[in-house]
Amino acid sequence: MWLKKRESYEVVTLSVLFHNRNEREVDASRTLARKAGVKLHLECSLPYLREAVDLDEGLRSRLESKNIPSTLIPYRNLIFYSLGSYFAVVNDCSTVVVSHNKDDIGRFPDVSHEFVQKINELLILGAPDVPITVEAPLLNYRKEDVFALAVELGVPLSDTWSCWGTAEFHCGRCLGCETRKRLFASFGLRDDTVYIR
Ligand SMILES: [Zn+2]
Repeated sequence: MWLKKRESYEVVTLSVLFHNRNEREVDASRTLARKAGVKLHLECSLPYLREAVDLDEGLRSRLESKNIPSTLIPYRNLIFYSLGSYFAVVNDCSTVVVSHNKDDIGRFPDVSHEFVQKINELLILGAPDVPITVEAPLLNYRKEDVFALAVELGVPLSDTWSCWGTAEFHCGRCLGCETRKRLFASFGLRDDTVYIR
């Protein structure tokens, strides 16, 4: 949001409400959209989209045996990028901006420069008269670089949500929480996040 606003874009945000999505994370996206002063904040409910951890044991075991995170939603980014493109067309936007970073490459099979390039080729095939482009401006940034950029842009980091759990507060133990703690500490910033542990 802040990155594109710095580039003088008018921004429309889209939050996808998939199965079991933490309401606190949904609240955080609303707060951030409001504070960024976006033109419009949209929410799309897709409760049948489940993360691998919420699917059957056999599928979860197969994914884990391939070191694919249990937070994967099968074909997630194909679905999310398509949804974003749809909402871009109907809201007169030209670009869909996704926020995957370099640390996601390899961890998730549908995060890569090649995946974004192929999606853009499909978008042209699917609607040649409607020029929508998917951009992933953070794909060359490590988590640390994204955090540094957020500090530089003045993002209210205390309003962000990092936990992969479903509790009311950050669990303090998942990879999202551990990374959050480490980054606040390494940048010497006060961390007001409430952690359960
Ligand atoms: Zn957590």
